[in-house]
Amino acid sequence: MKSPIVAANWKMNLTIEEGLDLVKQVLDGSSSDGSEIIFFPPSIALSAIGGVLKNTDYKVGIQNIHHEKSGAYTGEISAEMVKFLYVQYAIIGHSERRQYFFETDAQINGKIKSALSANLCPVVCVGESLPERQSGKTNEILKKQLMSALKDIDNISDRLVIAYEPVWAIGTGKSADLNQVYDAHNFINEILQSRFKNHTPILYGGSVKAENASELCQIKNVDGFLIGGASLQSESFCQIIKNVT
Ligand code: PEP
Repeated sequence: MKSPIVAANWKMNLTIEEGLDLVKQVLDGSSSDGSEIIFFPPSIALSAIGGVLKNTDYKVGIQNIHHEKSGAYTGEISAEMVKFLYVQYAIIGHSERRQYFFETDAQINGKIKSALSANLCPVVCVGESLPERQSGKTNEILKKQLMSALKDIDNISDRLVIAYEPVWAIGTGKSADLNQVYDAHNFINEILQSRFKNHTPILYGGSVKAENASELCQIKNVDGFLIGGASLQSESFCQIIKNVT
């Protein structure tokens, strides 16, 4: 495994001031040695947080981008706009975006292309819902989401991260079990290996906490975590970073 990735998805939480406090506490309470730590704050805080992190090894990313570079898309932000804010990553296709904002596979594909052309690294989320898992369709869904997300994308030159996030495990306190994570990551890795020459990092996301991070990160093809709830407190986030590294 290259350096494990520990990514904090704050979602629509924390004011700019609260975010700056949290980042300061994480910088004081953790070491980025041997790992890639990325904060995904709400867009309004990117400039302030990017400013604090730009002289450190910690990274910052945006939670969503529009697929066009510019235009009449009220309320949207493009990859081209944020690359000047020390932003290096973009979460694309999070299940909350798919569910609440009706993002389609085609839009997700466009966003990935847009991120890549602005030199951002897309963190592409895929994952099945509970009914899909219960009806034995997990692999079918993962394959469909991956193939359409990566349609016509051949040259990623080491700038792609996939996050396996079973929808039923996000924010529920119920993480996928070790076998479920092993199987899904193995399956995703096979698809990615057949598309790209280099190993593409695959993160697990879904109720990761300090208590389960050590076990989960030992699973083959788990290259780190995308963390929601537990990234909002410095103690739990720093403990996860320690457990992973
Ligand atoms: C997420 O939103 O990407 C996530 C994994 O959330 P949580 O850690 O709270 O389940």
